[in-house]
Amino acid sequence: MKIAIIGAMPEEVAPLLKTIDTYKETSYAGNTYYEGSFGGHDLVVAYSKIGKVFSTLTAASMIEHFGAELLLFSGVAGGINPDLKIGDLIVATHLCQHDLDITAFGHPFGYVPEGAQFIETSKDLIKIANEVASELDKTVREGVIATGDQFVACEDRKIWIESTFNADALEMEGASVAVVCDALNVPFFILRAISDTADTDASFSFDEFMESSAIISAEFIMKMVQKID
Ligand code: SAH
Repeated sequence: MKIAIIGAMPEEVAPLLKTIDTYKETSYAGNTYYEGSFGGHDLVVAYSKIGKVFSTLTAASMIEHFGAELLLFSGVAGGINPDLKIGDLIVATHLCQHDLDITAFGHPFGYVPEGAQFIETSKDLIKIANEVASELDKTVREGVIATGDQFVACEDRKIWIESTFNADALEMEGASVAVVCDALNVPFFILRAISDTADTDASFSFDEFMESSAIISAEFIMKMVQKID
């Protein structure tokens, strides 16, 4: 099977590429795509650049141009749920866009006509994640991830996202990737390791822990690849 693995930043993708012996580099639509094989699968790996628009372009390119049949996201996020500490893993069961707002027309936050407020991820891939977690003796939380084109470093905004969407973590790419995969019928999985807690100290915490958390997420994703049939 051809599997896409996407991150947003170079640091999220570097530990993935480290585990693949040889790969081919292709430039396409402003990004570099790395193709190789691992765990009996063909892989296409790329970082999209930050935010919903770039991640939409990259996910769509991986599927439509590079022929990916399944997509895994590996990266870091701000924790909302107080149980999530730096370095902890969260798997999205559902994703939403916290900055999508046409509430002036009576719609809920995160909703536009013919879209959905929440997009559900693949239950089969979550099952594989739980198998990997128990083999590694790791706790992986399942929950809602909220996505928006904002680095959230503000307690009020974080509380608003939590109360509006019942979200456990937030980041800037997951829901846009989810919209693409859902529309193109490609099973997908979004994994994030916590780099900060989206409060006033978030940028400092992010700078300190982004790289180590990105490695935790990437190592877990590569274990999952080995388990996918
Ligand atoms: N340090 C970068 C900017 C990082 S933006 C620079 O200066 O270029 C934050 C990235 O990590 C995004 O890809 C997002 O998905 C994720 N992320 C981690 N913590 C976040 C938070 N508190 N709010 C929003 N996104 C967060």
